[in-house]
Amino acid sequence: MSVKNIGAGFGFATRAVHGGNETDSETGAIRRPLTMANSYELPYDATDLNWSSAEGNVYTRNGGANQRYLQEKLALLHSAEDCVALASGVAALSGTFFSLLRTGGHVVVSNVTYIAAYRLLGELFPEKFGVQTTLVDATDPANVAAAMRPNTRLVHIETPSNPTVGICDIRAIADIAHAGGALLSLDNTFASPYNQLPLALGADLVIESLTKYINGHGDALGGAVLGPKPLIDQIRSEAMVNLGGAISPFNAWLIMRGAVTLPLRMRQHNESAQAVAEFLEQQPAVRFVSYPGLASHAGHAVAASQMAPGFGGVMAFALHADHEGHNRFVSYLRVITNAVSLGHDESLIVFIGADDERMHLYPPQYHGGFYRFSVGLEDAADIIADLAQALEKTGLA
Ligand SMILES: *Cc1c(COP(=O)(O)O)cnc(C)c1O
Repeated sequence: MSVKNIGAGFGFATRAVHGGNETDSETGAIRRPLTMANSYELPYDATDLNWSSAEGNVYTRNGGANQRYLQEKLALLHSAEDCVALASGVAALSGTFFSLLRTGGHVVVSNVTYIAAYRLLGELFPEKFGVQTTLVDATDPANVAAAMRPNTRLVHIETPSNPTVGICDIRAIADIAHAGGALLSLDNTFASPYNQLPLALGADLVIESLTKYINGHGDALGGAVLGPKPLIDQIRSEAMVNLGGAISPFNAWLIMRGAVTLPLRMRQHNESAQAVAEFLEQQPAVRFVSYPGLASHAGHAVAASQMAPGFGGVMAFALHADHEGHNRFVSYLRVITNAVSLGHDESLIVFIGADDERMHLYPPQYHGGFYRFSVGLEDAADIIADLAQALEKTGLA
C-alpha cells in the first residue's frame, strides 16, 4: 500500500488536496471512508483504559476517524503542531476560553468580535466564573498594551473582524501579550489559512469556524483550534471529551471535502471582493466601504503585511439611506442572498441596524447601520450588476 505522506514541505494547494487523505487499507479506495460510528472495538482487557482520554479510537466524543483526518489536513494548512476539530466555531471559542481562563484571571478582548465571543468573555465568564474582562479597540495595539494587568492570562482578537472588517496588527499584539505573560488567541475565520497564518506571526492559538470558508459550501457546522500540542491536548480533553463539543463524522467528512478546493475558492473570493469593493466605493450612494484591500481602509498597510495573497471575501458598507432604505435595497437583490453567515459559495448580505446592541462599540461611521457582505463565487460581473440594479430600484443610483 502506498503512503503519500504529504507533509509541510509541499505547497498550500498540494497540502489542501492530499492532507489527511491516504488509501483506505481495507478496500484500497483512494479516499478514506466516512466512518459513521459512535464506538470502536475495545481490546481484550479494557480495564486499564482511561475513559476520558482522547488517545486512540474508543468513543466518538473522545475522537473519531473522520475527525482525525480533518485535523491532519487543517494542521498541515496552518503549519500547526496540533489541531482539534469541534462541533462549531463557537465550540472552538468557548472550549478555548473554558480551558485557559479561571476565576480571578483577566482577559483582554477586542471590542469587535463574533457575537458569541462577546457574550462569553463580556458577560457569561465574568458573571458566572468571576473572570475579569477588558474590551478594547484592538485596531490600535497601544490600547491592548494599556489594558494588560499582572493577572492577564489571555488576549483574544479577530482580524479581519466580524462584522466591521477591521484589522489588528498580529505581531505587535502577540509581542504585547507575551511581554505580559499572556497567550494570544486569534479568530482567523475571515481570512482562512490561505490568506493568513497567525501562528507564524506569533499567535499562540488560532481558531477557525470551519462553517465558513474552509468548508465553503454552506452545508455543515464545524470549528477548530490550532497550536502547540500541550495546549491543544488540554482543549481536546476539556472542550471535547468533557464539555462534549465533538464534531459529527459526517460534518468532518463534508468539511474535509470542501477544504480541498480552499485555495481555488479563496483566490476567486479575493479577486471578486476586490472588484466589488472598488465598484461600491465609486458609487455616490455608498456612504463607506470597509474592505482591507482598499487603500482607503485604515488597516490597509497592516493587512498587506500580514495577509497574503489576498484580503478575503467579506466587506462592510453602508448607503446614504435610512433603516428602511437599507432594507429595501436588500429586497431588490436577485443574485445576492439576504442571510447570515459568510464564506459560502453564494453571496450573502445582512443589514446590521443602528439599534444593534453593540453598535456603540464600533467606530462612528458604522452608527447609522451597515451591511456585512460576503462576496461569493458567482461571476463578479453578475454580483456588481445585481448591486447596481438594486441601487437604481432603491432610487439611489
Ligand atoms: C461564524 C463565526 C464564528 C462562529 O462559528 P460557528 O461555526 O457558526 O459556530 C466565529 N467567529 C467568526 C469570525 C465567525 O464569522
